[in-house]
Amino acid sequence: MYQALYRKWRPQTFDQVVGQSHVTDTLKNQVKAGRLSHSYIFIGTRGTGKTTCARILAKAVNCLDPVDGNPCGRCAACQGINDGTVLDVVELDAASNNGVDNVRALREEAVFSPASVKKRVYIIDEVHMLSTSAFNALLKILEEPPEHLMFILATTEIQKVPATILSRCQRHSFHRIDTPQIAAYLEYIAGEEGFYLSHEAAELIARLAEGGVRDALSLLDQCSAHDRIEVETVYSVMGLAGKRRVAAMLDHIIKHDTAQALTDFGSMWMDGRDGGSFLRELSDLLRDVLMLKVAPKRGTLLLSGGYELDVLKGFSNRLETEELISAMETVQKYLDSLKDAKNPKTAVELCLISLCNNTLGENVNALRARIARLEAQIATGIVAQPRRAEKPEYVETEFELPPVPEEEDAPFVPETEEPEPYKAEIPDSNPVETEESAPVKTVIDDSRNTRTVPWSEICQKAGPELSPNIRFSLSDESKISGKMDGDVLRIFSAPGFLYERLNRQDVLAKFAAAASELSGREVRVILSEFSRENSVQRSLDELKQFSEVSFI
Ligand SMILES: [Zn+2]
Repeated sequence: MYQALYRKWRPQTFDQVVGQSHVTDTLKNQVKAGRLSHSYIFIGTRGTGKTTCARILAKAVNCLDPVDGNPCGRCAACQGINDGTVLDVVELDAASNNGVDNVRALREEAVFSPASVKKRVYIIDEVHMLSTSAFNALLKILEEPPEHLMFILATTEIQKVPATILSRCQRHSFHRIDTPQIAAYLEYIAGEEGFYLSHEAAELIARLAEGGVRDALSLLDQCSAHDRIEVETVYSVMGLAGKRRVAAMLDHIIKHDTAQALTDFGSMWMDGRDGGSFLRELSDLLRDVLMLKVAPKRGTLLLSGGYELDVLKGFSNRLETEELISAMETVQKYLDSLKDAKNPKTAVELCLISLCNNTLGENVNALRARIARLEAQIATGIVAQPRRAEKPEYVETEFELPPVPEEEDAPFVPETEEPEPYKAEIPDSNPVETEESAPVKTVIDDSRNTRTVPWSEICQKAGPELSPNIRFSLSDESKISGKMDGDVLRIFSAPGFLYERLNRQDVLAKFAAAASELSGREVRVILSEFSRENSVQRSLDELKQFSEVSFI
């Protein structure tokens, strides 16, 4: 009968446990010295050896002939525990036996001395799953444990275990195991089992297992149907796209080559690659590039090790930190959505489209990514042309002026006590988008001689008509300036109160009247805020359209 590798190779002694010597050495010494605690709690992620060590400890404390703190594996106690005939070593899975009744029953039988071995040992796996009342019942035993009793609790989620329980247990933390350590162990087992496993394939399996020996052996099991296990075998068995294809995909994404990205994914899909695994591989690659980006010197220690350093550096030079974070967020979002996706292929395709068109990103980090890219461009002096060249460089508002009356001395605008402020027909949030509306032109006799009028002359003419606030600002070019441009008078104002004061029909009409009179032709007035001079501001304004983000 075929036995799964991880069962067949389950360590029988502390010395056989891979990568947890800080725990196993301590336990061995305690067994040797006979200084054992009555309750232990083993903490660590799945597959790192917690229950394995619990079983070894249960045997070691009962072994009739322990060897250097390890169970001998041959005596009646060891063999009885191994084959399950010793009923004094009890394993409970709290995930399935979480009822308070189970712990009550446990309490009742706990008072009796063990029947066939020295210590009755309860191993409670996933102990954090116990109900509150079950924890309370357990606490009662832990408070005054009989001499013949030992508890070994194991958990992946220590924060869910009550402090009252923890404080009564000796704690041991199980680490994720290094990739090289797991890889070496896999190569050893492959050698013993007599099948070929390449070093690269062993490392790949070890990385995929993320520090858990049990997962690594399960993966090796899945691959072992093949005579020779190479990297490609692992990719194929696991439904993975593989390094080369994932790196090629990131290249398409950076080039915004949506068509090629979708084509490549289509062929991976036809090859039977799994969408979720592919996105995870892409996420791993992005993560490694990010690590290299944020910590170029020490980052190599943090790399998962799947890619050549040169490949990662190449990507790192082509991507901004914010772009990487944004891309990782996008991938994560689609990975999450994949769980309930009716059509996983479409979900992955949407993810790729979103990644290739990062300008479509709707999250804050996508915007930050674009800003970072712009800043980097400015730093190098290479600034891309604004995308919408037909748009003016500044924020522009155009005003319709009322017709000038035929009579020269008639008032241009009827005087009222409180003239209504002119309201431009633009949404406050988005002045850039304002389209010019056809102005009602001032009617001036065209037969007169025309000339270009300097701004200072217009100010002189219009000044007396204007409120002091505006009048005093006219001499300060940093606050207000103007320029005749054909039959258009462009007035630029600093944003804020002054702009608000100017931005009234009656005020602008006075400028228009002065300019018209001086130039002898019909003049339109266009009021703009001073632009912040370059396209970056406009690009930021563009960005704002993508999302409601507050820019400081
Ligand atoms: Zn023994």
